[in-house]
Amino acid sequence: MLSRFSFPKPPSSSEQTRSYLSKRWSYRLLSFLLGLVLALGMTLPVRAISWIDLIRSGAQVLQLSNISDKQEMELGASINRELVSSGQAKVYRNRAITNYINRLGQEMARNSARSEIDYTFQVVDDDGINAFATMGGYVYLNKGLIARADNEAELASVIGHEIGHIVGKHSIKQLRQRAIAQGALSAAGVDRSQAVQIGVELAVNRRKSRRDELEADQLGLSNLTKSGYAPAGMLGFMQKLLEGGSSSVPTFVSTHPATSERIKRLQAEIPPEKANQGKGLNNQAYKNQIRGI
Ligand code: ZN
Repeated sequence: MLSRFSFPKPPSSSEQTRSYLSKRWSYRLLSFLLGLVLALGMTLPVRAISWIDLIRSGAQVLQLSNISDKQEMELGASINRELVSSGQAKVYRNRAITNYINRLGQEMARNSARSEIDYTFQVVDDDGINAFATMGGYVYLNKGLIARADNEAELASVIGHEIGHIVGKHSIKQLRQRAIAQGALSAAGVDRSQAVQIGVELAVNRRKSRRDELEADQLGLSNLTKSGYAPAGMLGFMQKLLEGGSSSVPTFVSTHPATSERIKRLQAEIPPEKANQGKGLNNQAYKNQIRGI
């Protein structure tokens, strides 16, 4: 029985199979390598650009404690590119609405305490009632928030609040704090590409500080009245958030401090007889303006 195993192996079909298999694997390997070469070849131009970007960004270290307006705008632009290209902020493509928001935003930016920088207002294709600002003039308003506002004064109050965050440089402060926490801040500052990455994280997972929110409310209210809008718009929109009723309200509330506290503070700021003085309270005109959203 044992001898059976000592026989030399017949020049068998198993060897043919092996040779066939090895040929088959060679072909597979070859086609895989060919695919790899093609894939690499196709991504080469992209890689070349990103390498240039890397070299450029690697050479730049940002001092967040005294960042210039130009550097802040460039940082905001880089964060915006990343947010948009990654789909984390899906830009809503509706020319009429986009133009309207931009016109409104630019007018308010001119009346802000920081009118010397460029502002970019974008509508995000998201039904959640939310808005946010990064830095260097980049403001994002959800389609859902625009639809939820009853009039232009209400919408303008949100825009004013977000511009207030840019005036207060809140994102820069948060970015600096995060960079320190991550050990990314050296004596020279933060590497630019790391700053962009942290900025994107902050934009996506916004954790607002109570102090920043209250300051943005103050700055927003002053901007709102300076732009000629009725301060009632700010109270009206916040009241909506407080009363809720919409399933998407918690998104906004969760990223902001107690709405009731904000309302109380605003009520103390706005004399009742002045609440309705100003433009933007025509609900029907606003509905016509945002028709199609
Ligand atoms: Zn805010």
